[in-house]
Amino acid sequence: MASSPAVLIRLVASAYSIAQKAGMIVRSVMAGGDLGIVEKTSSVDLQTKADRLVQMSICSSLAQKFPKLTIIGEEDLPVQEVDQELIEDGQWEEILKKPCPIQYSAIKEEDLVVWVDPLDGTKEYTEGLLDNVTVLIGIAYEGKAIAGVINQPYYNYQAGADAVLGRTIWGVLGLGAFGFQLNEVPDGKHIITTTRSHSNKLVNDCISAMNPDNVLRVGGAGNKIIQLIEGKASAYVFASPGCKKWDTCAPEVILCAVGDLVQVLLVLYHFGHSSKLLYRIFESVHNSTNSTLMPHFPHITSTICHFAFCSIRRSNTYEVVPQNCFNLHFSNHWQTD
Ligand code: AMP
Ligand code: MG
Ligand code: MG
Repeated sequence: MASSPAVLIRLVASAYSIAQKAGMIVRSVMAGGDLGIVEKTSSVDLQTKADRLVQMSICSSLAQKFPKLTIIGEEDLPVQEVDQELIEDGQWEEILKKPCPIQYSAIKEEDLVVWVDPLDGTKEYTEGLLDNVTVLIGIAYEGKAIAGVINQPYYNYQAGADAVLGRTIWGVLGLGAFGFQLNEVPDGKHIITTTRSHSNKLVNDCISAMNPDNVLRVGGAGNKIIQLIEGKASAYVFASPGCKKWDTCAPEVILCAVGDLVQVLLVLYHFGHSSKLLYRIFESVHNSTNSTLMPHFPHITSTICHFAFCSIRRSNTYEVVPQNCFNLHFSNHWQTD
């Protein structure tokens, strides 16, 4: 008799089906017309009814099937009975058939941490920039992001009535990333993708110093990783605190699992079990040509600093970066928040 798939594979297969249901919830809240917008820390840090319902759906569905998981969701929600209609029990068959990478085959459920961003790009969702929105489910083991699922509920929404709306991208380190067409940026161009709604002087100075051919300002961490893997941008740069672990866990996996990246410069967060987490910070970012561009991030205590999430593709390298622009020094120690 065939043995049951490894926990990680079963979890990813569930997360895929759960993310698809999440996409449907995101669309149905928008179609209902009442977004129920709440301001969290500021007018650019929002929560909608979709953020709330999707988080309930994802966390409850996962907890029901995998009761020993540690699940960390973005939204602070009151403890309440979850409507059974929000529960998704399915597991994507195609994923269940995949072999588990040997290094993850003995992982136990209680060793895994799931980071949930129920709706990434909420600001853009409220402004009707619908393809910027993603649902992010990241899976971490021993502090490292190892598997992830990204649902893009409004993929194809401008492609005409016949186009299939929405898609789900998923990946596991050592297995690969699926659900999209990997592409290179054309003509060796250096195109930076960055925030559209959380910009500041440092973010803009940093981008200018990299002297890109073009800058793509779009919403969502998940969406910006999609820009990288589909060849619309060659680097994701955001020199500012603001992104959290639920923003980057799943996207980091997809980017790394693509496999043909020469170099991925990113802040490697520690995706551990506790919310008092350890994370790696940049000790310093030196600019060898312009001293005004020497931002230091020495002791970031309450917010996680997400400096640069650069995909540097083999055929489209940012070789100018280390020599002429930035020398990135990673701190080797872990700092508690
Ligand atoms: P953006 O690139 O601006 O769409 O941001 C990507 C993710 O990081 C989103 O989930 C944002 O909510 C979050 N984020 C980035 N900057 C900030 C900020 N200054 N305040 C709150 N959330 C932020
Ligand atoms: Mg987010
Ligand atoms: Mg969110």
